[in-house]
Amino acid sequence: MKHLISLPAFALLAACQLLPAAAPAGTEPVPAATETVAVPEPTVPEATPTPAEQWLFGSAEANVVLHQDWNDIASYVEAKVAARPNASVVLASGATAEAPAFLACGDKPMAAVFDADETLLWNLGSTAAFTRMGIGFDPKVWDQWEKTGAGKAVATPGVLDAFRRMRAAGVEIIVNTNRSAENAAGTEATLKAAGLGDFHHGTTLFLRGDAPDGSGKDGRRAMISANYCVIALAGDQLGDIADIFNAKDLAPPARKALTDAPVFGQMWGNGWFILPNPLYGPSIKGTMDEVFPPETYWQPEATE
Ligand SMILES: [Mg+2]
Repeated sequence: MKHLISLPAFALLAACQLLPAAAPAGTEPVPAATETVAVPEPTVPEATPTPAEQWLFGSAEANVVLHQDWNDIASYVEAKVAARPNASVVLASGATAEAPAFLACGDKPMAAVFDADETLLWNLGSTAAFTRMGIGFDPKVWDQWEKTGAGKAVATPGVLDAFRRMRAAGVEIIVNTNRSAENAAGTEATLKAAGLGDFHHGTTLFLRGDAPDGSGKDGRRAMISANYCVIALAGDQLGDIADIFNAKDLAPPARKALTDAPVFGQMWGNGWFILPNPLYGPSIKGTMDEVFPPETYWQPEATE
């Protein structure tokens, strides 16, 4: 569509003053009081995926990493079913790096507990919408997405085959996500539409609002553990494993060191699994000195 604009009358008057004074009457066009001129629509810059979006959602490399990860998770779960553990991989209440402790399993059935967003699901519809809007995130838009995004989020690479293997091994798959409990129906529909299966709020789907600790997930992990021996936890954020990693005062180097603490450090790939997410979350943080240790400072010589 073209926009029509009116030329101001004064511009036409100025043009009239340039007409030859002696022009015979009737030989020159008489300008109307106003004229309309077609001008092009302002150009809207085309949206471009961010480098993180290109890597995670668009690259063959990320596709391979996710297939590797989900293969590892399925193999780990199958091995645990073959050699039933006594202890869950859920940290006991009050456990620390100095005094780690895990919940006991008893004879409860085994379950694997997974985060949803950027773990089981790639939120392609909402991420592209945010990118087209030129914003990183908007909670009101996200709330709409939780309600209506079914069919526009896809299963992460490798997860469908891993689910098939884990279910064949007899393990219950439970989702623990910070999507809102108020939008449970939308999240159940989104998981189903992505091919991940039927999940039910309160039994196999736990949402923000189900426990009093807000976006913390320890409360929900305790609820799940009342009925299950959790043999695997996986997510794209450390909070999907234990809330202790999301302590507010932890700068990136201290947070990294906590993941290397003696007992915690042996859990990665061994009951605790983290999948790549360079898009958002507490991993996207850090000053130059926190990201690049000062002892690695290097400066090239001036080049001509
Ligand atoms: Mg997530």
